[in-house]
Amino acid sequence: MSWHATVLTLFPPMFPGPLGLSLAGHALSAGLWRLEVQDIRDAATDRHRTVDDTPFGGGAGMVMRPDVLDAAIGCDDGRPLLYLTPRGQPLTQDRVRALASGPGVRLICGRYEGVDQRVLDVRGVEEVSVGDYVLSGGELPALVLLDACVRLLPGVMGAEASGEDESFSAGLLEYPHYTRPAEWRGHVVPEVLLSGHHGAIAAWRRAQAEQITRARRPDLWRRHVNLIDLPGMDSAPAGP
Ligand code: SAM
Repeated sequence: MSWHATVLTLFPPMFPGPLGLSLAGHALSAGLWRLEVQDIRDAATDRHRTVDDTPFGGGAGMVMRPDVLDAAIGCDDGRPLLYLTPRGQPLTQDRVRALASGPGVRLICGRYEGVDQRVLDVRGVEEVSVGDYVLSGGELPALVLLDACVRLLPGVMGAEASGEDESFSAGLLEYPHYTRPAEWRGHVVPEVLLSGHHGAIAAWRRAQAEQITRARRPDLWRRHVNLIDLPGMDSAPAGP
C-alpha cells in the first residue's frame, strides 16, 4: 500500500496543483503515493450546502461548523489527522520524517476564521503551522506539508539526493554549494572543494554548516549544542 494522503478542503481544484509536477508529480503517477481530495461541502446537509456560520460571542468572519466537518472527516482509519492552522505547533523536519514513515496523513484545510474548536477536541486533531504568518486558507500549508513528506518517501528522490545531507537532517542548516565556472565575476570557489580530498571537504562543509546555523538560527544552534553536549562550547546567540 502506497503512502496515502487525504485532503479535506473547500477548494478541491487547488490539488494536486504543484504536486502534480516534478518529483512529487512523477511519484504520484508512479503510484509511490496516493492523493484523495475530499470536498468538505459534500458533507453539508442543507440545500445551500452551508459549511460555516457566524461566531458565538460575536466578531468578524465565519467559522466552519463542527457537525459538517465531523461528517466530512468520517471514520478514523489510523492515519494521523492534522489541521493546518497558524496556532499549531510549527512543522519541523523531524515531524515530516515521522509522518513520511507512517501510512499517510489526513489534512484539514481551514478557511474563514477557522473551525469550531469542539471538532478539533473531540477528534483529537493535531494542529500544525507552517509559519508565523496568516494565509487565507489551509490549502497552501497542506501542499507544503505534503511536498515535504512525499520527497522523503522511498523511491521519490534519486539515490544521489537522499535527504540525509540537507538542512535540519543533523539539526544544522546546510553548507553553501558551488558549481562551474570555478571563477565567476572574480569570485572563486573555495579551494578545498577543488582539492578532491573528501575528508577535508566534509570537514569544511561541516564547519560552514555550523557557522551558518550559529549566525542565522541561534535557536537551532542552541539545540544542536545541547544535543551533542560539547564541553566548553559557547551556546550563546552569535552575531552576524
Ligand atoms: N483566524 C485564524 C487565526 O488568527 O489564527 C486565521 C484563519 S486563516 C485566515 C484561514 C485558514 O488558513 C486557517 O484556518 C488555516 O487552516 C489556514 N492557515 C493560515 N495561515 C496558516 C499557517 N501559518 N499555517 C497553517 N495554516 C494556516
